[in-house]
This record gives sequence, C-alpha cells and structure tokens, in this order.
Amino acid sequence: MKFIHKDFLLGTKTARRLFHNHAEALPVFDYHCHLAPQDVAANRQFRNLYEIWLEGDHYKWRAMRTNGVPERFCTGNASPLEKFKAWAGTVPQTLRNPLYHWTHLELKRYFGINELLSEKTAAKIWAEANAQLATSALSTHGILRKFKVKVVCTTDDPTDPLEHHRAFAKSGHPTRMLPAFRPDKALMVDAPAAFNAWVERLADAANVDVNGFSAFISALERRHDYFHAHGCRLSDHGLSHCYADFCPEKTAAAIFDKVRRGEAATPAEHAQFAAHMMWFFGRLDAAKGWTKQLHLGALRNNNSRLLKQLGPDTGFDSIGDFPQAQALAAYLNRLDLENALPKTVLYNLNPADNHVFAAMIGNFQDGSVPGKIQYGSGWWFLDQKDGMEQQLNVLSHLGLLARFIGMITDSRSFMSYPRHEYFRRILCNLIGRDVECGLLPDDEKLIGPLIRNICYFNAERYLNFPGLTRTMGKPPAAK
Ligand SMILES: [Zn+2]
Repeated sequence: MKFIHKDFLLGTKTARRLFHNHAEALPVFDYHCHLAPQDVAANRQFRNLYEIWLEGDHYKWRAMRTNGVPERFCTGNASPLEKFKAWAGTVPQTLRNPLYHWTHLELKRYFGINELLSEKTAAKIWAEANAQLATSALSTHGILRKFKVKVVCTTDDPTDPLEHHRAFAKSGHPTRMLPAFRPDKALMVDAPAAFNAWVERLADAANVDVNGFSAFISALERRHDYFHAHGCRLSDHGLSHCYADFCPEKTAAAIFDKVRRGEAATPAEHAQFAAHMMWFFGRLDAAKGWTKQLHLGALRNNNSRLLKQLGPDTGFDSIGDFPQAQALAAYLNRLDLENALPKTVLYNLNPADNHVFAAMIGNFQDGSVPGKIQYGSGWWFLDQKDGMEQQLNVLSHLGLLARFIGMITDSRSFMSYPRHEYFRRILCNLIGRDVECGLLPDDEKLIGPLIRNICYFNAERYLNFPGLTRTMGKPPAAK
C-alpha cells in the first residue's frame, strides 16, 4: 500500500464508500482564513515553491528550528532555494507531526508529485513544482478553481478599504471572496501608542473626527456598515479569554480619554473597556444578522528575544491555560438577555477546554437557527487528526454533530485547500467505523446527508451569505 493513496485515512469499507460517494467531490466553503486579498485580486502567480509554501508559514519554521535549522534558513536572508532545501531536509524528521501528512498531500494535490520530500528529492521537486507554478492553472485564480472553492472569507481590520474584495468581485471568477470584520485593535487600551495610531487610521477610514468615545463608537459603526455593504456577514475576535467586567458607558469613555492622552489603561481598566467593546460588537453583529467567531485561548509572543528580532506571528505562540467558562458564559448571557446574541462560533485552543466549550453552546441555543451557537472545528495546535477527532467526538456527545458547520483552512497559504479533504477523510473514517461497529445504522440515506451537510451544506445554510446561489441537491459526481 502506497502512502497518501486513494483511501488514505479511510480504515473501513463504509468509510471509503462515505468519502467517495458523499464528501470527495463537494466544493469548499472556507469561511475563515488569512489569505491576502490582494493576492486573490491580482491573480498572483508564485515564482517558486518557496513563495507559495514556505513564506510566512510559522508551522514549518517551528519544525525547522526544532530540527536544529538556523534562523537564517527560516525567516532570515538565505535564498529561497536554500530555505526550501532546509525545509526538505527537515521533512523526514516530521513523521507523525501533521506537517508530514499535509506536506505530501499538498505536493500530490497541487503538482501530482508522489515522491517523499527529503534532501535527496529536493532539487527534483523544486524544479517540477516551479515549472507548474508558472502555469495559469496554479495562479491564485487557478487554485481557487481547481479546488472548487465556492466561498473564501478573509480576515480584515475594520480600517481596511476592501478594494481587493471589490476588484475580485468584478473579475467574474466563480469564487466569492468576502471580508470578515476583526476589530481586535479596538480593545488594545493597554498599549496606548499602538491604540492611538489605530484610532487615527479608523478616523480616516470612517471619515469621522474621533474626538471622544461616542465618536469612536460611531466610526466603528460606520465601518461595520461599510463591511456589510461589501457582503460581510462574519466577525472574528482573537482573545486569550472573554471579558465580562461590564461597566457603564461613562467608565469606558473615561478609559478611552485617558488612553487618548497617551496613558496606558491599568489591567482592570483594560478588562472593563474590552468587556464594554465586546458587548457593543455583539450587539452590532446581532442587529445585522452576522455570525461572530471567538478564537479563545492563545498565549502569544512567549519568546521576547525573538519577538523583538522577528515580530509577531513568527512561531512563538502556544496554548494558554486561561480560565474560560465563567466569563464566556457571562458574555453570551449578557447579549442573550438583551435579545442581542448573534449566531456564534466558539473555537478553543486548549484541548482541556473541549468539553467546556461543547457544553457551553447548549446554554444559548434558542431554536431560532439550527446550531445557532457552534463549537468550531479544531483550531491551530488542534488542527490535526487527533484534535479533529476529539472535537468531532466531544461535539457528538454533548451537542448535535449533524448541525456542525465544518472545517476551515484558517491558513495564510494558498497551498492549504487539501485541509478540507483531510478533515473529510477523518470525518468519514470516524463515522464509517461507528457504522461497522453497529454504533450507527448501516443506512446510507441517513448517514450520507450527515456527511454532506457537515462537509459543505450546513455552512452554506447557516452563514446565509447574500447573493450566493445555494448549492442544492446531490453533490456533483466524484472524479
Ligand atoms: Zn484565524
């Protein structure tokens, strides 16, 4: 049996049937990622495998550093080919890390390359992949077509002019690229210089003179309206934990004024201000029928020496152990009490919180929308076979797996679309095994729709993006 074969990860006959009949051919609905919108709009053509695959990939840098590769070959000034060779030399040491599966699945799906990547095969794979990257089939537009990406939601700062989203919408490409509103910088009152610089950008973008807290709120409302007019129906927040120290508006306004004078908010003030803003953002999303995503639990920038040298998002973040349950419940409850709780997707980074999050969602389901509060797919350190299986199992046991809106790439790279295939195989393997053990009925009319809905249709229905033709009925036939 070869590696990454037709039935990769599919351990039973039923799993194979479910995947090939129901999951394999479905389009991709990627509702959360970090692709650069300008690369999509400009139909970027990558000059080599380094540009599309290694540039900006902190997962790979972490593995390379762990393998003893000097920083020069990760983020430093080595040439693209030298960096690629350093990565190729690391790959054989990544056995059992998800990188080993992703690497070979990606080489196969993008370039039809079946060889294992190592120091020995590096030069040949580099030449083969680069030749194909020069063709229109592997420009960003070509890639979106090849992987049948129906929707891609980027992650955007409220000050973003969204001109690339507009330009791409006019291109006639079948993929829909929509923005997502990520206002994390609006909470940063503990860092006055960064906060004030951002407030100035916000003032410009919204064309509002931000001379006080109420003008700040108006400017954010205007940007939310602007995103809405660009088809945005999704927000996102990356927080270590929820904030629930709710305060009166005048307290938030006083904190805002203090920070605008250049003084940092105290930790207690920061917590109050963040709670107030998150309450405000929740109400905004609910009023317009958006879905809110909460990514909770990262412990960021742990290596101050390398943060200073390389900046954030370079591979020095990990899993935090913040208490989550009480503040998360208080936040959701505050919005629910005011009939202002939007559809919400909760993602945890600490696997110890799996059951906490999966149980939490049940508290706020209100019968208005199936699966209104979602327990999101395995995120970041949990976006691997074991993490996905755990998320699927815990959600099955504590909630309704059938209403789950499925997988996202959450990636900065255009080489990540096979993550959907990887998830679909894991899902079909799990369900197929249950069927063959007699834990689920051997009834494809019952199980087939479960697979199809989780892999695609639930996300389309739940997110309900405007102007999107619903993909109805049976999936297209498998290749
Ligand atoms: Zn993300």
